Amino acid sequence: MHTDLVAALDIGGTKIAGALVDGDGSLLVRAQRPTPAREGAEAVMGSVDEVLGELMASPLWDRAGSVGIGSAGPVDAAAGTVSPVNVPGWRDFPLVERVHKTAGGLSVALVGDGVAMTAAEHWLGAARGYDNALCLVVSTGVGGGLVLGGTPRPGPSGNAGHIGHISVDLDGDPCPCGARGCVEGIASGPNIARRALENGWRPGPDGDATAAAVAVSARAGDPVAIASYERAAQALAAGIAATATLADLDIAVVGGGVAGAGDVLFVPLRRSLREYATLSYLRRLTVAPAVMGTDAGLVGAAAAAIALR
Ligand SMILES: [Zn+2]
Repeated sequence: MHTDLVAALDIGGTKIAGALVDGDGSLLVRAQRPTPAREGAEAVMGSVDEVLGELMASPLWDRAGSVGIGSAGPVDAAAGTVSPVNVPGWRDFPLVERVHKTAGGLSVALVGDGVAMTAAEHWLGAARGYDNALCLVVSTGVGGGLVLGGTPRPGPSGNAGHIGHISVDLDGDPCPCGARGCVEGIASGPNIARRALENGWRPGPDGDATAAAVAVSARAGDPVAIASYERAAQALAAGIAATATLADLDIAVVGGGVAGAGDVLFVPLRRSLREYATLSYLRRLTVAPAVMGTDAGLVGAAAAAIALR
C-alpha cells in the first residue's frame, strides 16, 4: 500500500482537531470535537478516538503511514506522555501509546504545540527558507519553537524554544511556573489586558476586556492601552534578543491571537528589538507575523510525522 499521507492531531484546551495531510501540507479530510477539558482522562481520550475514528472511516485512511500529534504542553516526547496545563484530567497521560493502539499500530510522533506551529511556519509559512528561526505563539500563554541549521529542534523532551518562561525581569512578579518576571507574565493576552485595567483603561460599552479590545483602544490613541502593548513588546523583544544572541538567528516569527494586534504590537516590537539585539551578527535578524493561522497545529503535527518516516 502506498502511504503518502499522514494523520495529524492538534490537541488543545478547547478543541481536538484531526486531518489527513498530504506531502504538500494540504488538509484532505478534517474532523473536530470539543475538548471535554473538565472531565476525566478517559472522556478526553474518547474525543481523540472519535476524531481518529472519523479519519479512519475515510477511504483515504489506507494511505496514512504514520500519525503526528501536536499537543498543548508540557509534553514529554521521550516518554510519549502529555500533561496539558488546561486539561487537568491528563497528567503524564500515555497519549502516544493510546493513539498507536486506536490507529491500528501506526507509528506516532509527538511534539508540543509551539514546536508544531514552528514546524508549520518553517515548512510552508513565514519562516520558509530561513535556516535559523524562532517562532512564537503569543495568546493565553506564550510558547514557541526553534529551527536551527534548517531543521526544527524540539529537544529530547519536545519543549525546546519555550520562550514564555524565560525571565526578562529579574525581580518581577512571581510566575505560576515558579520563576519570576517571565515573558508570559508580561506579554500574554490576559496580562496585556490586566496591566491596562490596573493603569486605568476601561472597556467600551460591550464590556470586552480582552487584549484585542485593548488593541482597538491603542489604535484609537489611548495612551494606557498603547503603553500596555509597548511593555509586552519590550518583554518579547528581550526574550527574542536573548534567544537570537545565543542561537544566531535569522528570523523571529510571531503568531497567536496577540499578534492579531498588528502594528500596535509589531512597531514597538521592532523598535525594542533594536535596543536589545545589538551585536553585529544580529543586524540581519528580522521579525515577521505568522501566516499559517489556525491550521498551523495540524500542518506542524503532520511535519513532525513526516520527519519520523
Ligand atoms: Zn514562568
